[in-house]
Amino acid sequence: MKIAFFNTKSYDREIFESTNHAFGHDIHFIEPHLNLVTAQLVQDEKCVCAFINDTLDRPVLELLKHRGVELIALRSAGFNHVDLDAAKELGLVVVRVPAYSPYATAEYAVGLLMVMNRRLHRAFNRVREGDFSINGLMGFDIHGKTVGVIGTGKIGQAFASIMVGFGSRVIAYDVYPSPECKAMGVEYVSLDELYAQSDIISLHCPLMESTHHIIDAQAIAKMKTGVTILNTSRGRLLDTRAVIAGLKDRKIGLIGLDVYEEEESMFFEDLSDDMIEDDVFARLLTFPNVMVTSHQAFFTREAVASIAESTLQNIRQYENKEPLENAI
Ligand code: NAD
Repeated sequence: MKIAFFNTKSYDREIFESTNHAFGHDIHFIEPHLNLVTAQLVQDEKCVCAFINDTLDRPVLELLKHRGVELIALRSAGFNHVDLDAAKELGLVVVRVPAYSPYATAEYAVGLLMVMNRRLHRAFNRVREGDFSINGLMGFDIHGKTVGVIGTGKIGQAFASIMVGFGSRVIAYDVYPSPECKAMGVEYVSLDELYAQSDIISLHCPLMESTHHIIDAQAIAKMKTGVTILNTSRGRLLDTRAVIAGLKDRKIGLIGLDVYEEEESMFFEDLSDDMIEDDVFARLLTFPNVMVTSHQAFFTREAVASIAESTLQNIRQYENKEPLENAI
């Protein structure tokens, strides 16, 4: 099938080209993000392949439909950036990659926790500069701490299992509690109880209307002083202004973010010669107890290979008029 592949990075091209040997699709790699202007680059491709920071709102979908597109193949699990109502009305089919190595993101959340807690990033720089002092590098044992997991789907469950291995007490909140988590000793509690009891809180629920700003000023007020917060899920789960207030009040001890509310205009791009226009983001970066990374939790060889395989398989199923396993 002919595919217009938007938002191409060198690693996308490499992995999709090699995986495509087994599928034989005709892929047209396009570097820019998908938006109302770049949608004009679609020629006769029936499929558009897009990533999480591409625009798939009603006007873009209308234009794609007008240009003959039938299928939107997301190379991501998250689909909060797609206007699904508009897609349905226009008769556009949307498929995604619901699962690809949950370990990649779960292990990354643990990585953020370990780096920040033991100040590994500061230690690395100090030793390179010949500073062998350890003042200011003191962390805490994770063993015996209470870890609160919000959302115990595939990633939350993998994260909970690692935390159980650390010897932490793991509590969780989910609208659909997982039997696997219960079997490993995870205790389900209300959100308020989770906020009140957790030393470390990790977000693994999807972004939806009901979870938008699930961590806001009221939630932070209910947390323990010195709480560690990890967000490897979606930026808009956190109210960043409330987080900044929580950091200034010293209520939040550490916060590790792989995602940010307004990441679409920055993440995945090299903007090192530009200034940061987002004042809230710039303020966030001034705190020594904040670590922000650029949405890289998914980025392991295994996860990327699995994303390519599933995306191309989803497109093959559509082309062959087979039942679509991963339609939204
Ligand atoms: P999943 O669908 O397996 O699990 C999501 C869980 O959240 C489910 O158990 C669901 O019941 C629960 N949930 C839904 N609404 C909730 C609510 N209101 N409160 C609490 N829990 C709720 O998804 P997953 O594969 O585990 O992925 C989780 C999220 O991680 C994705 O939605 C995506 O946004 C994010 N993600 C980020 C990266 C990254 O690179 N940073 C990579 C992959 C996924």
